[in-house]
Amino acid sequence: MQRVYLDNNATTAVAPEVLEAMKPYFLDDYGNASSIHLRGQRARSAVEASREQLARLLNARPSEIVFTSGGTESDNQSLFGIVRASRSEAKHVITTTIEHSAVLHTAKELEKRGVRVTYVPVGSGGVADPTDVEKAIRPDTVLISVMHANNEIGTIQPLEEIGRIAREHDIYFHTDAVQAVGKIPVDVERLGVDLLSLSAHKLHGPKGVGALYVRKGTILRPLMYGGHHERDRRPGTENVPGIVGLGQAAELAGRHLADGMRKVGRLRDRLEEGILSCVPLATVSGDTSRRLPTTSNISFDYVEGEGFVIAMDLKGVECSTGAACSSGSVEPSHVLTAIGRKPEQARSSIRFSLGRFNTSEDVDYALEMLPRVVEQLRSLSPHYKKDAITAQA
Ligand code: PLP
Repeated sequence: MQRVYLDNNATTAVAPEVLEAMKPYFLDDYGNASSIHLRGQRARSAVEASREQLARLLNARPSEIVFTSGGTESDNQSLFGIVRASRSEAKHVITTTIEHSAVLHTAKELEKRGVRVTYVPVGSGGVADPTDVEKAIRPDTVLISVMHANNEIGTIQPLEEIGRIAREHDIYFHTDAVQAVGKIPVDVERLGVDLLSLSAHKLHGPKGVGALYVRKGTILRPLMYGGHHERDRRPGTENVPGIVGLGQAAELAGRHLADGMRKVGRLRDRLEEGILSCVPLATVSGDTSRRLPTTSNISFDYVEGEGFVIAMDLKGVECSTGAACSSGSVEPSHVLTAIGRKPEQARSSIRFSLGRFNTSEDVDYALEMLPRVVEQLRSLSPHYKKDAITAQA
């Protein structure tokens, strides 16, 4: 049976070039990057080369890149790091209602420790209004954290405007760019961010490695204590193969950014248009004019999301009900409820996320399977039958 992977916002396949670049650092050049012998030096120079590759993709300086274990750590480091470094007695953080749990749950933890947090709401399109962010600023605000692109609906936030506001008020600005890096241009200067989180496994790199961009001069407390790695920002022996993989993934992402993403966007649009034209009672979530080219989130009335994912999987198509981390939970997605979807609509929403390895045949196959699955699930729904009969009467 054909298998089609449409869950690239959850994770991506490691690119063959990435795997090849990593291999020597498991087998031959396995030195500790802090050792002074040849193997150690080789590992060190690979780490520094990766830092340069990643810095180029973000228009940052290599010295501003800190390697971490992934997006979650980078988000935690940013929020805890800024709050703990701040000398003021009262501390206030601004974020949004649609952040990933790596930011939202960190913010909740900060609240338990006495930090005040404002969760700026988003409109029905899933985009925050910069004036709402500005209105939330207080004399004790130490950090604004707004994600770049949403993982569930793909909406892109107005970071440039928020960055300008943060600068005018002299407040640190962090963005969770885990879903944006490698998919749309990300330039730390243009965005005006002080901190930016990213993760290798979302851009065809390995899992368990990521980075935090830290603008020069940013005062940040480390999360962990140990050796003097990463300029005292992040202790622990460097994950050399992972870091090399991230560097290579960044290099490839830069090369594929324009053409590759145009192709992905066309495939996504064909998938979405195909679904909307042959499946009744289907609605796209999020402002389609400000969206990642990879993502389409569609709710199918009278279809239970988890059931849909299982039925599609049995047909060979892999997609998701929303954030991977919340799958299995019966709670409707916080992102979909934040944009005003009713709980039952949120529960019937499916995220299709494409990547540069998807093909036109993948879309054809998904479009062949999907209407049958929706029809089959709807035929089992007592509400659908009842409403259809009422509508006919
Ligand atoms: N932030 C966003 C927006 C994400 O989509 C994810 C992963 O799904 C993360 C953070 C967490 O990244 P990681 O899996 O590298 O910890």
